[in-house]
Amino acid sequence: MKALVWRGVNQLAVTQVPDPELRNEQDAIVRVRRSATCGADLHLLGGHLPLLRRGDVLGHEFLGEVVEVGPRVRRHRVGDRVVVCSVVSCGRCGPCRRRQFSLCDNGGTGPALGGQAGGPSPGGCYGSSPALGGFAGSHAEYVRVPYADRGAFTVPDGVTDERALFASDAAPSGWMAAHLAGVRPGDVVAVWGAGAAGQLAARAAALLGAERVVVIDRLADRLRMAERHVGVETLDHGTQDVGGELRELSGGRGPDVCIDAAGAAAPGGGWRGRLGQRFRPAPDRAVAAREAVHHCRKGGSVFLLGTYPGAVDRFPLDTVLAKGLNLRGARQHGHRYIPMLLDRMARGELVTEHLATHTMPLDRAPLGYDTFRNRLDGCVRAVFAPEP
Ligand SMILES: [Zn+2]
Ligand SMILES: [Zn+2]
Repeated sequence: MKALVWRGVNQLAVTQVPDPELRNEQDAIVRVRRSATCGADLHLLGGHLPLLRRGDVLGHEFLGEVVEVGPRVRRHRVGDRVVVCSVVSCGRCGPCRRRQFSLCDNGGTGPALGGQAGGPSPGGCYGSSPALGGFAGSHAEYVRVPYADRGAFTVPDGVTDERALFASDAAPSGWMAAHLAGVRPGDVVAVWGAGAAGQLAARAAALLGAERVVVIDRLADRLRMAERHVGVETLDHGTQDVGGELRELSGGRGPDVCIDAAGAAAPGGGWRGRLGQRFRPAPDRAVAAREAVHHCRKGGSVFLLGTYPGAVDRFPLDTVLAKGLNLRGARQHGHRYIPMLLDRMARGELVTEHLATHTMPLDRAPLGYDTFRNRLDGCVRAVFAPEP
């Protein structure tokens, strides 16, 4: 089959790889109908932790059709249209029983992510490094889905592929951030980053009853998109006084909940990108996280959703303490939210099609990543689809 593989730092190629096969009784094989790029991929492409191996197939957000099932798959049969959680979890271990699915003990059985500092490996993820299970990714014609009864979710009729695709990762990530940050009716919520996860965190906050939701970014086209499709307020980081405006719209106290959906910017190609963060911590990358801590109200909640590979310095830990903040972060516990999100998508409460700004065949995936990485032409997500 055809797949998009990693060939080295910021080098991608579409090439032939072996078809996936059932390896366990709970596996399914899914023929991919839609697969999206994600900001987390850009850190992988740049050769930063967690490391890829040459020839690894990329992509972790996808939707498709079941074409084969193992003998112990009960919930799915051949022909089902399913969206697959980007996180691989068994559904039965201690963390899964606590509904912390991205911490699954059996999803990623590779080496620990960051050695002693990083602790044990979290759950698995498609299209990622051996530390996250080494599962082949979704920018391919077919994907092996382990624990298919847990990780694949039947898409309701009437929900388009473009909408349901975002139930794989961006929508549950955004919902989890708003939920675990404790958004309550009447809250003021600020979200850094107007990409897919940021817009969907903002939408989740609104659906959870927040009175005012404001999205902060430097990209004017994304801010206009958030206003128009998500119905939230926006602040332009490049031209507006973010701290002053946030105080103003929260009665002087600061937002109750601050969500960092921006993370560290992934460096581009070239030698700077190659050397940039690989071997030493970059001290000044945590702009969004630092602002979230600075601007949050006393006793408020800060949630980290964005990716910060490696170590981060100059983080205002004393402010966390002095303001009594609730500081938290997680990779998405998607299995907990996806059925509810698909219901909301079916009811039209959660609309995501606008995020798929660039749809193209898999053959053009390297170009798609270039467009996505450099945010060309208003790109929020590149989506790869089979030829019609
Ligand atoms: Zn993702
Ligand atoms: Zn588990």
